[in-house]
Amino acid sequence: MQMQSNSTSYDVVIVGTGVAGLATAIYLAEAAALSNQTISILLVSKAAATDTNTSWAQGGIAAVASDEDSFEAHIVDTLDAGAGKNDLHIVRKVIEAAPDAMQDLIRWGIDLDKKIDGTYDLVKEGGHQFSRIWHKADSTGNSLQATLMQRVSQFKSIVCSENTAIVQIEKDAHGTFHIQAIHNHTSHQTYPNLIVENCIHIQCAQLVLSTGGLGMVYAKTTNQTISTGDGIVFASQLGATMKDLSFIQFHPTGLFESNQSGTYLITEALRGEGAILRNKEGVDFMPQYDARASLAPRDIVSRAIMSEIKKSKTEYVYLDATGLSASTILKHFPNIQTACLEKLGIDICKQWIPVLPVQHYTCGGIQVDEFGGVVGVDALFAIGEVASTGLHGANRLASNSLIEGIVFAKWAAVKMINALSHDTALPISAYHFKPIIVKQIDRALVQNCLSNYAGIEKTSADLRKGLNELSHAYQNANVLKYWSLKEWENDLLYQVGILIFKDALAQTENKGVFFNLDLE
Ligand SMILES: Cc1cc2nc3c(=O)[nH]c(=O)nc-3n(C[C@H](O)[C@H](O)[C@H](O)COP(=O)(O)OP(=O)(O)OC[C@H]3O[C@@H](n4cnc5c(N)ncnc54)[C@H](O)[C@@H]3O)c2cc1C
Repeated sequence: MQMQSNSTSYDVVIVGTGVAGLATAIYLAEAAALSNQTISILLVSKAAATDTNTSWAQGGIAAVASDEDSFEAHIVDTLDAGAGKNDLHIVRKVIEAAPDAMQDLIRWGIDLDKKIDGTYDLVKEGGHQFSRIWHKADSTGNSLQATLMQRVSQFKSIVCSENTAIVQIEKDAHGTFHIQAIHNHTSHQTYPNLIVENCIHIQCAQLVLSTGGLGMVYAKTTNQTISTGDGIVFASQLGATMKDLSFIQFHPTGLFESNQSGTYLITEALRGEGAILRNKEGVDFMPQYDARASLAPRDIVSRAIMSEIKKSKTEYVYLDATGLSASTILKHFPNIQTACLEKLGIDICKQWIPVLPVQHYTCGGIQVDEFGGVVGVDALFAIGEVASTGLHGANRLASNSLIEGIVFAKWAAVKMINALSHDTALPISAYHFKPIIVKQIDRALVQNCLSNYAGIEKTSADLRKGLNELSHAYQNANVLKYWSLKEWENDLLYQVGILIFKDALAQTENKGVFFNLDLE
């Protein structure tokens, strides 16, 4: 057991600088300023602050805005995608709050596409009956990330610390969170099991986990490398419950590139504009699977593609955007056009794009209440992709996750501000952390295990096999005397993998993204 000397204290620590973490910090700072309350907020990111999944969001942000659309229609679409496993109260609450959240973004200066008449250019995506996706060409996330970071920088109450990896979180008997973080880590640096000098000790009264997804647990994912499920493991260790962690959404159209694990995403909005999925023979196959054809929800499209891939014994199908005008492609999808040209030499105005389903989004996660508070752990919040709020049910509707992160950030901020007004600043106290044990885990082994046995179509035998393989590998793995951050993440990925297998084996029915051939 070690004692830390390099200690700091904040009212609130927010782990993560994606949409959820940044929006929480802004709402907290705004609420404190409005009520003349002093507050100290620490915002940390494992890598650069912009290195988030948020930055890569392409399609946009869903919120009802036009006269032809309605809250009821957005609710129906969300429930339909989620196969009815959603929490109706939360779905309604989020969808009704979404237009105000868009106004907050506009107030903070977001630059989104407009039509010639000056109104916002709303588009349609898979599973949406109406055009309600606010966007900035095909790089909405980039615009959102920049806007939020700019707004954060306007508050003296927010300290932003990049390249600061949180590696341990404990809670003492008085309810204070104690956090160990490594600042300015490098890929070559290793740390002894009992860290002393290299770690910072941070304590806080309220803690927000906005650590994003867990895509790196699969061999092919659209997620950034930071997505190793850190918040899932921290929350589990603090006593939180995980909900539906095996509800993994596979995006139907990842760009097929052989030998690449990080996969470039071809947004659904391209299908929204009229692009069509075709099999090896060039057949528009989706109408055989669903009346909504290429615009059916993601789980249906992903399974249809896998079925076509199996039938034709190829590794991919095609997305045909050649029916779209070149001006539409250049105006709405300039980044996709460039990426396809650079990566595969394909001109999407003239050639079909090879695509396949890849891991994309974690619909389940840390179970939270309607304010983002973690069920069973006081003063702990989980906002963004890491949380299971009840909005997505068994499958997330496209463009519903950025908006979820923003509205829950607002609700959680109110809760935290109210709780903090009763608190006085925490005195810095010495704290004895438990040692961090890291085992030598092969990342590829974990990724292959999850991809082979917990993919789009599962069987109970495969799930048991995957769980056994992982458990066996861990039992036989050596405890590392010195570990790098990547090795620490590998150990984390193993723990996340085990949780996914256990959750999948506990599911009793097929719903949305969850599909086990042995269940009804
Ligand atoms: C390619 C792509 C396209 C998408 N398109 C859309 C879209 O159009 N519309 C939509 O609604 N959704 C979209 N999504 C989903 C959406 O982008 C994500 O769900 C959302 O951005 C997640 O935000 P977040 O704040 O929860 O996490 P992220 O944005 O992923 O941020 C996670 C943060 O946590 C930090 N972190 C993690 N672990 C630690 C640690 N141990 N210590 C310190 N910091 C840590 C990271 O450094 C990072 O700052 C897309 C996702 C991808 C991958």
